Amino acid sequence: MAKIIDPWGSELVEDYEKIVKDFGLETFGAKTFPKPNKIMRRGVVFSGRDLEPISKAIKNKKRFYVLSGIMPSGEKIHLGNKMVVENIRYFQERGGDAFILIADLESACTRGVTLEEAQRRALNFHIPAYIALGLDPKKTTFYFQSENKDVIHLAYEFARKITLNEFKAVYGSADPSRIMAAMTQVGDILYPQMEERMPGIIPVGVDQDPHIRLTRDVARRTKEKYKFFLPSGLYHKYTPSLDGGLKMSKSKPESCIELPEPIEKVKKKIKRAKTGGRDTVDEQKEKGGRPEECMNFELQKQHLVEEDKELQEIYENCKAGKLLCGECKNISCKKMDDFMKNFNDGVEKAKKHITKLNFVKFQ
Ligand code: SF4
Repeated sequence: MAKIIDPWGSELVEDYEKIVKDFGLETFGAKTFPKPNKIMRRGVVFSGRDLEPISKAIKNKKRFYVLSGIMPSGEKIHLGNKMVVENIRYFQERGGDAFILIADLESACTRGVTLEEAQRRALNFHIPAYIALGLDPKKTTFYFQSENKDVIHLAYEFARKITLNEFKAVYGSADPSRIMAAMTQVGDILYPQMEERMPGIIPVGVDQDPHIRLTRDVARRTKEKYKFFLPSGLYHKYTPSLDGGLKMSKSKPESCIELPEPIEKVKKKIKRAKTGGRDTVDEQKEKGGRPEECMNFELQKQHLVEEDKELQEIYENCKAGKLLCGECKNISCKKMDDFMKNFNDGVEKAKKHITKLNFVKFQ
């Protein structure tokens, strides 16, 4: 039986190729979309679901949308969130209308966060953080789930279209809070098509694929009435934990880079990160390092090194034993220093313009 990867994090992906096969996904190639961004070029974005409508929309300059959600269940985010923003930005730059939903209803029903608290966190930090990470606010529509009556209406109407057994087959379990949260997400994913039917893409970690599958099932079953395009999904790998675990998580603070976080603390974490280095300097010079097993290299590949040429040089110098781990981690620390400064400045700047953003409002 295929392993169930659910959006609430009960299982982690160990074998991405197997997931592509088990989930019936498409392998993402560097030629799937024009001028791919760095995480697409480097295989961090590894798969998708039904990507052709999006590549056609980009090619033919037709309308399409890109949607992602912010879960304000905590005061901070972590470095892994940067990849979602990088992909949203990519589609914004290729003509996509961006929608960012604040999952305040989901935070309330799955994490017990009040709506007021979720809204405060989103306005004070999460939305400015996404802007600081590269989201273009001028081309983005924002909304709170609790204030979007179209989303709520769709969620309730579509709840009739799914049986409990189907829900269990997709998510592995079916407690009431998860059902409420998942149906609200179905409403979210289809909401941008209320005004005009168009293809849409949801860039997420692969653990969110169940939401895409459920939404596609619902869109098929309501085709006669709504004629929605089936949404596409784009999936990236997780940012691994600095100790070598599969996924960076705030539950393991020593191996997770939070945003924001004091830079000296982050540097200490990088210095302690698991590498693919050898036991002694002499051995490393002789045999070379193993970047494919190295969390520092993974950080550079996913987040810190923009230019492919520079990343290639690090890789080759590591393999040839010309680069030692201390020096290599210093490169990461310096880049992280610049990144964190830009991020903190970007958050402060974005906060000043928060009231000018385009929020969906209902009477
Ligand atoms: Fe990793 Fe760099 Fe050491 Fe190579 S030299 S194993 S890439 S830290």
